[in-house]
Amino acid sequence: MAVKIQEGFALFSRRMEAKVYIEGDDEAIDNMESRKSENLEKERDERKRKLLYDNLDLIMRHREDILNTHRYARIDVHYALHGGAAYIGPMAMQRRICADGVQIKVGITLGSLLGIWEIATYKVNCSCGNTAYIRSFGGSPLSGVSVAGAYCPHCKNEIHGIRSRSLGDYVRPVENALASEEALVSQAFTSRVFGKPGELCSLEKMLSELKLKEYEASEP
Ligand SMILES: [Zn+2]
Repeated sequence: MAVKIQEGFALFSRRMEAKVYIEGDDEAIDNMESRKSENLEKERDERKRKLLYDNLDLIMRHREDILNTHRYARIDVHYALHGGAAYIGPMAMQRRICADGVQIKVGITLGSLLGIWEIATYKVNCSCGNTAYIRSFGGSPLSGVSVAGAYCPHCKNEIHGIRSRSLGDYVRPVENALASEEALVSQAFTSRVFGKPGELCSLEKMLSELKLKEYEASEP
């Protein structure tokens, strides 16, 4: 947060002479770089979101496999759901927590997302006869009125304007999921059991492994 500093001209001149800047050049560069990298991250999230939905049929076919494979279930997919509320703004699907001065990002994982999509609120019937999954929602926290959008992995159809549910029914599962993600990370700190970065899996890597698996299964 910006700090408002009120100083007279004499004090300002003395400070400039001593080269004591309120925001130094190094700090300004660091802030500019942070903004650049945040923009890059946003682009990356959008690309991954598209990739996830383009491959949702593959993901759903391997649902159990994903839930039972730790490195798949723990893939960060905070970009998958878009939620928001009037007066409050976009709902954070990722929390930045500070652990003894170190920043840690905890977000919705693929395992959590598949769990959320098991809840009746997050499922709708598609006109093709299959199940579509809610991927965006918004509404009013005062009246509870909501409008949501869903995606069908079978016919790749987008369903807009779903208004039959309350906003709270969308928000609660996300909040519960984030709370359990946070608890898992805090548990890792308490037990001092940390994995190695090499154990991490990306969405891209998982998708190619699943495709290979299906290919091998189809081989005569
Ligand atoms: Zn469909």
